[in-house]
Formats: sequence, C-alpha cells, structure tokens
Amino acid sequence: MRTRFAPSPTGFLHVGGLRTALYAYLMAKQNKGKFILRIEDTDQERSVIGATENILEVLQWAGLDPDEGVMLDQGIVSEKGNRGPYIQSQRLEIYQKYAKELLENGHAYPCFCSSERLDQMRKDQQAHKQAPMYDRMCLSLSEEEVKKKLKAGDPHVLRLKIPQSEKITFTDDIRGLLTFQGHTVDDQVLLKSDGFPTYHLAHVVDDHLMDIELVIRGEEWLSSIPKHLLLFQCLGWKPPRYAHVPLLLNKDKTKLSKRQNAVATHEYMDKGYLPEALINFLALLGWNPGSTQEIFSLKELTDAFSLERVQKGGAIFDTEKLDWLQGQWIRNMDSEEFAQRIRPTVEEKFPAAKDDKEFTKKAALIQERMTFFTEAPEMLSYYYEEPTVTKDLLANEKQKVTEDMLGEVLKLLTATLEKIPEDKWIEDSLKEILFSLAEDKDYKKGQILWPLRAALTGLPYSPGAFEVAVALGKAKTMERLKSALKSI
Ligand code: GLU
Repeated sequence: MRTRFAPSPTGFLHVGGLRTALYAYLMAKQNKGKFILRIEDTDQERSVIGATENILEVLQWAGLDPDEGVMLDQGIVSEKGNRGPYIQSQRLEIYQKYAKELLENGHAYPCFCSSERLDQMRKDQQAHKQAPMYDRMCLSLSEEEVKKKLKAGDPHVLRLKIPQSEKITFTDDIRGLLTFQGHTVDDQVLLKSDGFPTYHLAHVVDDHLMDIELVIRGEEWLSSIPKHLLLFQCLGWKPPRYAHVPLLLNKDKTKLSKRQNAVATHEYMDKGYLPEALINFLALLGWNPGSTQEIFSLKELTDAFSLERVQKGGAIFDTEKLDWLQGQWIRNMDSEEFAQRIRPTVEEKFPAAKDDKEFTKKAALIQERMTFFTEAPEMLSYYYEEPTVTKDLLANEKQKVTEDMLGEVLKLLTATLEKIPEDKWIEDSLKEILFSLAEDKDYKKGQILWPLRAALTGLPYSPGAFEVAVALGKAKTMERLKSALKSI
C-alpha cells in the first residue's frame, strides 16, 4: 500500500497536519507499504522559505520518516525514489502536458476573464445568495474568438469543464457513500495564467504518477472531491481510495485556532512534549481503539489503527489529556533512558554534570515529578551549584516551621547528622535517626524535614530530604546545613 503526505510549505506544520501524516504513515506501515512525502509548492506566493525544512524536521522528530519522496539527509533536503521529482515546482512540464491533453480532449477550456470581472461576478452572486461559481462566460466564446485571443497572447487560465448533468458517487473510507451533482461543482481552474498548475490538477497528476493507493487528508478537501474524481475520469485513470479525517476542534467546538491553542507542532516540541506523547495524543484524536488501552507506541498504533474506527465528527483537542499522556510516557520510561534523554539539557546548563557518575540515580529521583524535560536543569540544579537559601524558604507555614525555630532546628540537624558515620549514610538510617530526633524534641516530622530539604536544595519542591541528602553525600549535606544557618 502506497500512501502519501503532501504538505504545502506555507509555514509551520500544523498539529492537524501531523495527525494526517501519522494516519497515512500507519496505514502504509500496517500494510508493509510505503509512506511517501511530496511537497506541494505550486502556490508560489504562499510558499515560505524554510517551511519545507521545518515540516521534515517535525516528521523526523515524530518518528514518521518517509520511505520515499522528500526527506532530510543529515539535515539537508533530499529526495529518494524513482517517481520523482517529488517537489511540485520541479514538475511543471508534467502538469502542462496533462493540461494540454485535457484541453485537446475537450475536458478543459481557456478562460480569459479578468480578476475584476470575476470579483464582480462573485459579489453579484453573494448579493443574490448564490454559491460562488464561475458563470462559464468563456465557454460560449467561438472557436475563432478563442484562437484570436490565444494568438494575441491574452492572459488566460485553463478551467475544467464539469459535465453539469453528471452524478458523481464515491465511497470515502471514513464517511461512506457520498453523492454530488455536477451542476453544483465549479469549473475549477487547473492551470494559472503563469503556467503553474493549481493544487487540484497537480495533486491528481502526482497521485496517479506516484501510484498512490490511499489518500488520507483533512475534511476541508471533501467538497473538492467531485472535481478530483472527474479529473481522474477525464484523464482515463483510476482514482485512489480516499479517507477524509475530521477537523480538530477547540474545547468550545469551534475549529482549532491559534487564539485558544498552540497549533504549530514546533510549539509543542519547544514546550518539551515527547514525540511519543504527542503522537499518542494525536492518534486518539478522532480514532477510537475500541478498547480501554490509552497508551500506544508508534509500533502499537501500527498494529491497532484502522480507518473504520475514525470518527466523522470533529475531534476536541484536549490539552489536559495531552499532559496526562506526557506524564505517563515520562514515568513509563526506563530510568536509564530517562537519564540519557534529560542529560543534554542538564549538561548544557551545568557542564559539571558531564562527569557525574551518579547522574542516573539523581535523575531517577525526579522522574516521577517531571512533566517536561526542560524542567530537568532546575530540578537538579542543587547538585551542580550552591543553592540560594533564604529564611522565607526555610520557614513554611503549612509545615508549621516558623522563622523563630529555624536556628534551633538547623543546629539540631547539624549536630545529629554530624554523628552519623559515612557507612550509615543511607536513607533508612537517616530516616530512623531524624524521626526519633523529632519525637525526642517534640517537633512534627515536617518541622525537621522541611528545613533540611530546603537547606539542601534551595527549592520549594524537590524529592524528599532523605533522598537528596543521600544523593549529595554527607560532606555536602553538612556544608549546606552550615551555610543555611549562616543565612538566617
Ligand atoms: N497540499 C495540500 C495541503 O497542504 C494537501 C492536500 C492533500 O493531501 O491532498 O493541504
């Protein structure tokens, strides 16, 4: 099975686009087929420099590597496959050839209408509450007139001549049987006056020449499907299967918008979401696995995915679910792998972490608490730099630690911990000793443990006092207690 993802490089890759790519990837992989990437850049005015790189980087990050077409090879945009080029702006002659064929066979006609005339026509139609459609004025030009205009080099486009009486039926893999009436379909522009094809012509030609068997794309293209099917018919080709996936919606059920949600995938990457979490989340947006399983790896999705279980209605983009999945993915990660993945960001901030032989152990202490890898440097900061400890932090209303008692508590802690030999510097014995200290001196546990933890980390939240004291070692613990005492 050959599927494709065919983004236009008009900007960042939208999360909806990534989901479309994912579904196409899954269908290809499930059927041991090929996932093809094609760049649709025929709308030159809307093309943005760097957008292709951005799209490819995002796909690579997400693990959706194309088997054929456009891809990154060591960061450089390259192409692989024998049906290329896979960038539409490099295929203009191919489209022109088929446009000519359509013209010669009477399936297309030149249109010389000026943009002013078309604007006026549209306004009139709107005023009469009619659907905006080309009024076919140029179809009534005589052969002579057409020849004369062409000879004079009058600017013109090429339009598809929709058979008005035709009934177009087709079965969408998600939406089932659909029927369209020819007279409701616009005579679509196929070739623009600058010789560039429109999306409609270009993608039909490419899907055929690239042997695409299944097209998965956004619901917004569903209304154009009759034109596409007619184009296949006029060119004498068999169309692929189609699956139009539902729109992504904001919580209030309006179309997913920048005002309510981040829509660019790179924003999620920058925030530190794991590709696994985002992919898991996007897969479930509109697809129902039919079981209670919620955590899916790409491999598991490949086995479980099916278009029959994709819903027709819009899918609500619920970022709370995304955050929950992110937490699940972080916690489920093997601790070695977790340490490896956070290590670069930590080392960037604290070069000393490079030589830290205990890094994995320290990382494991924060794995349960973390939502984003970007939090790692701060969460581990106290291992690599002296914490800033203030009275405000050492005292804590909830734990009933008042500023007045800090001096005594810190002194008690110092004196007690000092006596513990190095070989007893383990969580269990620290716990036992400090719990009995609290009991003897009539303190609540929190009144002892909060100042200790705060003195060691300089942070309001961190792993527990015993874990941190053990990870820091006795000498560092004692040093920090003494300097905390000085700071009050
Ligand atoms: N270039 C189109 C887009 O970016 C692709 C639509 C399709 O997949 O056919 O929306």
